[in-house]
Amino acid sequence: MTRKTTLCVVLSLSFFGYACGQYDASKSVITDVQYSDGPYISIQDDTLTVDWVCNNQSQSEQVSLLDFPYHFEHCGLNAKLSDLNIVPQSIAVNGDFTVAAISDLHGQYDLAIELLQNNKIIDANNRWQFAENHLVITGDIFDRGDKQMEILWFLYELEKQALAAGGNVHLLLGNHEVMVLNARLDYLHQKYFKVADILGTLYPNLFSERSVQGKWLRSKNVLANINGNLFLHAGLHPKLAEEGLSLSAINQLFKDHLVKHELEAPRTGLAKFLHTRDGVIWYRGYFSDIRATSEEIDTLLTHFDINRIIVGHTSQEQVETRYEGRVIAIDAGMKRGKNGEILFIDKNVVWRGNLNGEKLPL
Ligand code: ZN
Repeated sequence: MTRKTTLCVVLSLSFFGYACGQYDASKSVITDVQYSDGPYISIQDDTLTVDWVCNNQSQSEQVSLLDFPYHFEHCGLNAKLSDLNIVPQSIAVNGDFTVAAISDLHGQYDLAIELLQNNKIIDANNRWQFAENHLVITGDIFDRGDKQMEILWFLYELEKQALAAGGNVHLLLGNHEVMVLNARLDYLHQKYFKVADILGTLYPNLFSERSVQGKWLRSKNVLANINGNLFLHAGLHPKLAEEGLSLSAINQLFKDHLVKHELEAPRTGLAKFLHTRDGVIWYRGYFSDIRATSEEIDTLLTHFDINRIIVGHTSQEQVETRYEGRVIAIDAGMKRGKNGEILFIDKNVVWRGNLNGEKLPL
């Protein structure tokens, strides 16, 4: 083993595999674990190339759009594509329905399924059971854990089932989706370096604009105002109330600057602010020592005409309130792989559901 390879191994094991995964992918393969993963689907004209890994072996098949709907089922992996239509999602929704929200799944597919089943969002076959109600995922389905693609394809299909039932699934972008799209692989599970290596590419290339999964992620919003509850991954910095922008404009500005290497010019000004430390997918000012004041929260609520701000990103032991309920923190630590909670809002009644499906007060 060369010195360079040894360094790569050490860095990868300590979750800093970006350097070797990005520049020296072939040397990041360090384990004898048999991985299966995928599919990763790329589109060229009316043909799809479907790639996956089965027990560390690269597999591929071509599918014509004429063959749709397409159900991928190989090697214990699953993905259903009824069509390739991307449904535009509104960032402002009002109606007489219950809203449920989870956050920061971080590749913990089995735990997420258990939580959603026990709280009757999905049935025993993982199909939508939440009728005309809405489920929000405030980002970070990616990184840390080793079942991020299982979550992606599950939500891809659940979204269609929810719409067919008159409900909706709102997957919002978190910093970890944006990191992978931007080739920042600091927290990527070791499995995915190996998968990319077996498929003969670098991991971010599997999420290009020409891939089904990449196009789908790029279509997602970073915030949603549902019945006056503002959902987003990390939070709105109080400064954003002074910028004269609407929620819709913030969402669009963020999305217009989503992937650095696809931009014609570097991010500057507010676009840069939204994508950096105090921006909508990184901000921790509702929880940190330098906290937003109660008055600043009120200014945000008034300016954006919302009742509450609901965020993930900063892990808690359970779903918790801050600022007398004007902020709700819903990252209940699923990333640790042991527990999870779900928030429910029905008009003005708010409660949390635990992993056993018990209804608990906030
Ligand atoms: Zn986060």
